[in-house]
Amino acid sequence: MNILVINAGSSSLKYQLYAMPDEQVLAKGKVERIGQDTAIVTHESAGKEEHSDVLEILDHTAAIRQVLANLMHPERGVLASMAEVHAVGHRVVHGGETFASSVQVTSAVKDEIRRLFDLAPLHNPAHLMGIRAVEAVLPEVPQTVVFDTAFHQTMPAQAYLYPIPMVLYRKHRIRRYGFHGTSHAYVSQRAAKLLGKPLETLKLVTCHIGNGASVAAIVGGRSVDTSMGMTPLEGLMMGTRSGDIDPAIVPFAMDKEELTLREVNSMLNKHSGLFAVSGLSSDMREIIAAMDAGDANARLAFEMYEYRLRKYIGAYAAAMNGMDAIVFTAGVGENSSKLRQAVCSKLTFLGVRLNETANLSSGSMDRLISEEGSTVAVLVVPTNEEVMIARDTYRLIHGGR
Ligand code: ADP
Repeated sequence: MNILVINAGSSSLKYQLYAMPDEQVLAKGKVERIGQDTAIVTHESAGKEEHSDVLEILDHTAAIRQVLANLMHPERGVLASMAEVHAVGHRVVHGGETFASSVQVTSAVKDEIRRLFDLAPLHNPAHLMGIRAVEAVLPEVPQTVVFDTAFHQTMPAQAYLYPIPMVLYRKHRIRRYGFHGTSHAYVSQRAAKLLGKPLETLKLVTCHIGNGASVAAIVGGRSVDTSMGMTPLEGLMMGTRSGDIDPAIVPFAMDKEELTLREVNSMLNKHSGLFAVSGLSSDMREIIAAMDAGDANARLAFEMYEYRLRKYIGAYAAAMNGMDAIVFTAGVGENSSKLRQAVCSKLTFLGVRLNETANLSSGSMDRLISEEGSTVAVLVVPTNEEVMIARDTYRLIHGGR
């Protein structure tokens, strides 16, 4: 069964075609700058060279048509006809309180994704465009949606509520939802395999540290807390996002700097984090290079980033009354031995003992990077949200037949 996994953004669309249940990636690619006459289309079939085009792609429907054209292309394609796409699985950022698991797309599901536009104004509208585009081009093909928030729906009220008037929760669903759930779920399952223990018996802290970053506390495979909140702004310091700040800063800065709501929102989401403190970049590679070259602001940015991450790990060890393993994933988590070393070297009081040599190893393998006797294991697990979407889609569509 061939499953097309789609991550639709407002001006981009990424895809992977999976053969299930083998979990084999047949092809992948992306369409960038949708809406322009110079859109960039990239496609790569397994075992073949990557192919790029600059084309006029004016909307998501045109983007899906182009993806299918590449998938069926006589040289670079892998499919003989559209009928060989058996199902489509979409990544959707916000599922609110409605969706605690993946579901097949129906008109009620689409209505609900639309109702949630308020909570994810940058993401959910684009996902819905992706769903509609597939409907237009492949009307008979079943579609599913896999939510970034769903995995965290197991959080207890003490973790998901904010201590503010409850009327805001009742009327507007202002609460903590958490994100990166598909990634936290994937790496926790892989971690249990690597540790050779049932997931049900483990207390894990999973650290998804990319441009966006979040930490999750996972007990027995269920998320009990996570650092992102109602939006992906809460929690850790990130590339361009502030993470946790005193909320009183918002009205104060608006008053002093005469900022509008839009400006203050943009400041905290796009002009803060590593970028603001270093004055250089939001990219961790550049921060580390500048720090190594003696740049004091880059060092401060790195130290604040590491410090805030370490505090969350400590907090989650307390939240779970113990911790069996720390799992690092995503761009920074998978690749930066320096950040992992900085974090773990100050968690020795919890029994964390990093194996310096293993920490320096690189690659796309799941790996244990702690010493054998370490009370808390430390792991690097490259994330794979796409395979989780393919699995859920396979289960929902194939299992339901
Ligand atoms: P996104 O949240 O956009 O999916 P990624 O998970 O790809 O982001 O992470 C991007 C981040 O990973 C960037 O800040 C990048 O600098 C960082 N990164 C990638 N490789 C390395 C590396 N070798 N060392 C440090 N940081 C890295």
